[in-house]
Amino acid sequence: SESALWQGLFPDPTPLLGTQDAVAAWTPVIGRSLQGRRTHLPDSHPMYFQRPIAMARARDTRFYDEEGRSYLDALNNVTLVGHGHPRLVNVAARQLSRLNTNTRFVYDELTEYAERLTATLPDGLDVVYFVNSGSEANDLALRMSRYLTKRDDIVIIDDAYHGYTSVVSDVSPSRYKHYGKPDTTHPTPVPDRYRGAYGYDDPDAGAKYAQHVIDEFDRLAAEGRAPAAYLFEALLAGGGQVVLPPGYLAPIFAAARERGALTIADEVQVGFGRLGEAFWGFQTQGPDVVPDFVTMGKAMGNGFPVAAMVTTREISRAFDPTGRFFSTYGGNPVACAVGLELLKVVDDEGLQHNALVVGQYLRDRLTALADRHPLIGDVRGQGFYSGVEFVLDRDTKEPASKETLLICERLKDRGVLVYPTGPAWNILKLKPPLTFTRADADDFTDTLDDVLETGW
Ligand code: PLP
Repeated sequence: SESALWQGLFPDPTPLLGTQDAVAAWTPVIGRSLQGRRTHLPDSHPMYFQRPIAMARARDTRFYDEEGRSYLDALNNVTLVGHGHPRLVNVAARQLSRLNTNTRFVYDELTEYAERLTATLPDGLDVVYFVNSGSEANDLALRMSRYLTKRDDIVIIDDAYHGYTSVVSDVSPSRYKHYGKPDTTHPTPVPDRYRGAYGYDDPDAGAKYAQHVIDEFDRLAAEGRAPAAYLFEALLAGGGQVVLPPGYLAPIFAAARERGALTIADEVQVGFGRLGEAFWGFQTQGPDVVPDFVTMGKAMGNGFPVAAMVTTREISRAFDPTGRFFSTYGGNPVACAVGLELLKVVDDEGLQHNALVVGQYLRDRLTALADRHPLIGDVRGQGFYSGVEFVLDRDTKEPASKETLLICERLKDRGVLVYPTGPAWNILKLKPPLTFTRADADDFTDTLDDVLETGW
């Protein structure tokens, strides 16, 4: 039965609060068809795959659909410490029953979480503004930057996505291409060493790509409109799973500071140990790279809506005259309890280290596949955030866009979930939970090998 299946997922059995109740509450109705379910959703409601999966539940690194089929999760955007982690389930349930309110009180979950979160960041990044989504976090950082500098212009990296509100859509090329680039947004080249002007073999690629950004700062200044902020991701998702070249951010940060512009690290995709070598993405660029704002979301609550913007006390105080910042749900007790427990789980289970070691193992295995499959043009990434770029021809690097989508469909048919990204949708975006094991990495690679071997 369905509940037996669900219980089978708790081998020991895991001490879940009121397990039987939880089983009853979460047991979906099996076999409900997809037909008619979207009646009241927008026609453009985003869904993975040609025939979307009716997902029933998930546990650790696996999803289970309504028919009971199991899928390895290599695409998840939010689940950092594995699906349904019992410690998070427990704290959420406990907190919901104890105190859940708007945020105009002080409670331990809020203050302790803010303290523990800032302890993961460099000194000086001390003040946390809790919000509800990555979009809001970026929106707030941009608003503060503009208010403090009394400037409007924002320099970004091309092909980035920073969120859906009006303000952040305006700095997200994949959004504003539908209505026209705002005059105040200034995209700079994606520092892509596979396709861009400076390749992997150029030891100065980082400095050369950085120079384009600095030139943009200067061009704007010469027009009397020096930028308010430089906004970046430390591993570019929309840009195509591009790893920033070493030595890229340090000169940009120095130039921004000299010119009075602020720096915003969008860690919504990459933060919380995913990149393995550092807890925060910007830290992979060296100890001197300390942004004025760090924005975070997605993984922060393991799927529970928690997001934040962290900045310095100085900036926070300078913004105070605009009125008290208030968000009804930002800093919600349940959100904070879950977020706090997540930080402890990452530590207790050594998940950042797992991302470093198994992430590299996964990339090594994928790189070895490239010997036999000419469709693979490049394999890149850091920790558990990788890209496999498919090309029709290794010399021309023509993107294999249609093929990439079909490969994802065939992988899905064989129980592996991954999805494309990049401007041409020809790059597999690998973003598994940090609990992904070597066996999971082997499962992923062997299945991809099989799909590439037998056709799609
Ligand atoms: N920043 C980046 C890098 C993102 O990838 C996203 C979402 O995909 C956002 C910001 C927006 O976050 P949210 O969807 O939580 O508003």
